[in-house]
Amino acid sequence: MKVVKFGGSSMADAGQYRKIRDILLSDPERRVVIVSAAGKRFKDDHKITDLLYLCYAHTQYGVDCSGVFQMIESRYLEIRDQLGLELDLEPEFADLKRRIDAKQVTQDELASRGEYFSARLMAAYLGFQFIDAADWVKFNFDGTVDQEATYEALRGQVRGLGAVIPGFYGLMPDGRIRTFSRGGSDITGALAAAALDAEVYENWTDVSGILMADPRIVEDPQTIPEVTYDELRELSYSGAQVLHEGTIFPVREKNIPLNIRNTNAPDDPGTIIQERFDQDSDPKRFITGITGKKDFTIISISKRGMSSQVGVLRRVLTVLERHNISVDYVPNGIDNVSVVVPTESVAASLYTILGEIQKEVEPDTLDVHDQIAVVAAVGRKMAFRPGISGQIFATLGQAGINIRMINQGPDELNIIFGVDNRDFAAAIRVLYNSFVK
Ligand code: ASP
Repeated sequence: MKVVKFGGSSMADAGQYRKIRDILLSDPERRVVIVSAAGKRFKDDHKITDLLYLCYAHTQYGVDCSGVFQMIESRYLEIRDQLGLELDLEPEFADLKRRIDAKQVTQDELASRGEYFSARLMAAYLGFQFIDAADWVKFNFDGTVDQEATYEALRGQVRGLGAVIPGFYGLMPDGRIRTFSRGGSDITGALAAAALDAEVYENWTDVSGILMADPRIVEDPQTIPEVTYDELRELSYSGAQVLHEGTIFPVREKNIPLNIRNTNAPDDPGTIIQERFDQDSDPKRFITGITGKKDFTIISISKRGMSSQVGVLRRVLTVLERHNISVDYVPNGIDNVSVVVPTESVAASLYTILGEIQKEVEPDTLDVHDQIAVVAAVGRKMAFRPGISGQIFATLGQAGINIRMINQGPDELNIIFGVDNRDFAAAIRVLYNSFVK
């Protein structure tokens, strides 16, 4: 069985519901469907979840939220009517409004109603069973999920053709509704896939998977067909906007592949994320993705004889720790060590930090370079292949891009280098055009 989750933009209007039905009909294994609240239909539209939080905020300040509530209700009734469904939702909305006015609804319960009404409508439209998330997603008092109880509660509930489940929320031990953090329907989908030992967890959204590079920099970048969780972590740490790995721990634990797909282009294969790939579908390609961030500062400390002294690095790092600054990279030479930190994080305290390093390390020179960008080429296939970094740096050199620092971890999952901010986009484009295209 496949567990499939549809995000907000896939649930935005009746037209999207029709696309979802076609996607499900094209594969009978797609039997368990997790849905988000209705998202934006166009750029300046509202997400239902945002409106629900807004409605709650009104009541907190004693302001009537009828106008906002009306917008929410009519979005759902419109979808119902356009799909020709006979679902008597008006009494449920009226009851919810009455309870809101009587201050009987918590913020989490109200926020959860977007997913709830989406799932009711989708279940009716597909002729699938509706399973409320409150009947199986079980939170502990500390807000973590009681995984075993949750899995146990879902098993046995899925009967017949298929089921639709609202994402984003579950139940606390005291019977109150609790939501995950924003975007949390991904977690519900992952929990359902893990509970049911799904063959795959398909996460349907409005892009055809994770892109190999930022489309604002590289024109029309290709999609990453296969990526491991470790690569994904590198990509998101170094700047790519991808699925938050924290949301998918249930499927990762059970080694269930996660496939990101596009509701608006259902024939695109999307991106598959899993622990490892035993077969290499494209042996010639060794870079999985290219990403990076701008605006780093390098603090460079040189002192003759440093390499034979003990504790210099510790003293430098202690100064930064005192200022609560997290260090991204520590490239070093024989008598030099540098720390690379986001410029923003040292903006307020840079001169104090330099003063303290000066006092505690007494370096011969202490330099600061800012306007530095960090670029990461990530790829599991770079490991144990000689010559890859040589090729990368030669290509950048030919393009006239000066490299300010180089960093490669011993797991060889990535090659990270620093360039001037102004060379950032060019460096990414040069790598993409030389090694991907
Ligand atoms: N609707 C919720 C949100 O907007 C949860 C989700 O869509 O995943 O954050």
